[in-house]
Amino acid sequence: MPLTINIPDTNKKRIIIVGCGFAGLTLAKYLKNSNHQVVIIDKNNFHQFQPLFYQVATAGLEPRDIAFPIRKIFQNYKDYFIRIANVTKVIPEQNLIETSLGNLKYDFLILANGADTSFFGLHKIQEYAKPMKNVYESIELLWNILQNLEDALTTSIDENEELLNIVVVGGGPTGVEISGALIEMKKFVFPKDYPELNCNHINIYLIEASPRLLGGMSEKSSEKSKAFLEKMGVKVLTSTAVKDYDGHIVSLGNGELIKSKTLIWAAGIQGNIINGINASNFTRANRILVNEINRIKDYENIYALGDIACMANEKNPGGHPQVAQVAIQQAKNLANNLKMNTSNPFKYKDLGSMATIGRNKAVVDLPFIHFDGFFAWLVWMLIHLRSIFGIKNKILIFINWVWSYLTYDQSLRLLFKPFRK
Ligand SMILES: Cc1cc2nc3c(=O)[nH]c(=O)nc-3n(C[C@H](O)[C@H](O)[C@H](O)COP(=O)(O)OP(=O)(O)OC[C@H]3O[C@@H](n4cnc5c(N)ncnc54)[C@H](O)[C@@H]3O)c2cc1C
Repeated sequence: MPLTINIPDTNKKRIIIVGCGFAGLTLAKYLKNSNHQVVIIDKNNFHQFQPLFYQVATAGLEPRDIAFPIRKIFQNYKDYFIRIANVTKVIPEQNLIETSLGNLKYDFLILANGADTSFFGLHKIQEYAKPMKNVYESIELLWNILQNLEDALTTSIDENEELLNIVVVGGGPTGVEISGALIEMKKFVFPKDYPELNCNHINIYLIEASPRLLGGMSEKSSEKSKAFLEKMGVKVLTSTAVKDYDGHIVSLGNGELIKSKTLIWAAGIQGNIINGINASNFTRANRILVNEINRIKDYENIYALGDIACMANEKNPGGHPQVAQVAIQQAKNLANNLKMNTSNPFKYKDLGSMATIGRNKAVVDLPFIHFDGFFAWLVWMLIHLRSIFGIKNKILIFINWVWSYLTYDQSLRLLFKPFRK
């Protein structure tokens, strides 16, 4: 007989939220004072602010600045229960989920379990490339970058080419932002930290298979971000696919080979699968098809939100973009529907998109206007600060950014290695 998670049965209906990312967190907050018991299950005990992972990976911020303990967020919420567990299966016929802690019955189940890196079936690349889809991977990436530089001090010029070349794959916002941050480290930080190393030999490549960077943004943003990056020294290759990687050599579609021990994979995502949902509900990249109120087509009481959901409509035939605002807005709409017992359809309000390229450089597309440069960079910082959870974190991040801006440096380059007794 499998264990049951120990949560009291009451006369309130139970809503289980799987995942406390942007969607799950917002839904849970907006369900406050509803007449439901709310159970939040996440495999981590913290919510992660993914847009700033690249700053953890490039020593700009500490992991704790962008991760927030879930229990602290919900300290004052009545009838809320939090469990740190991996949800492995849904059994819709029994209104039951299976988790690493045991089983639990639900009245409503909300899947907000997000997405993970997609390597598009390129297994060899998957084995050696470095993704950046959670805090752990961001820390590991930083560790790799720093360790390679340490190793480069003790190897010959011939050998250290692969240690000094960093290849970023994927020219979306993540690829653009991390390339910009790395080239700034090459310019401002590494020469001071590694005076014995000829830092001119450090190369940052950004490789994108489609003809332009920031494909989801305006043409102007694409052109401008490419121009910014190239001026800063990033070697940008568009219309170029990465075909293979063995941990040492990156093979490109045009036949070119690049020696590198660091291939950062920021090229695609796919939904995190939880077993038990009928296969017919899945579409491209493991997204789950939902109707206009985020309900999964085959079920009456199971919903999907955010990156895992695909609400295809005339305006977005392939579903909405997998960004934080969609997750947040869908969660608010569903919270209202569950609270008021209504079925108001979701309408996405596109607030615009942006990417930062480096110091004083960003691109911003608002619904009717594009701008870039210093003002865009300020807007980028303000919006991200505003979105960060908790006053203390906002202040810490702000101080860090001001400090880096004034000193062209920051002091978070610690090589914490995995602990083994
Ligand atoms: C590096 C990076 C940069 C980004 N930059 C931007 C940006 O600048 N602007 C923007 O709008 N968007 C950005 N995004 C996208 C944005 O972060 C996502 O769209 C958003 O996080 C989706 O929210 P979500 O709640 O659907 O999923 P997530 O935020 O991914 O949350 C999913 C949660 O589910 C949990 N989970 C997963 N599987 C299980 C399981 N089986 N059991 C229990 N728990 C589980 C996870 O631990 C996680 O907490 C970025 C993403 C990345 C990776």
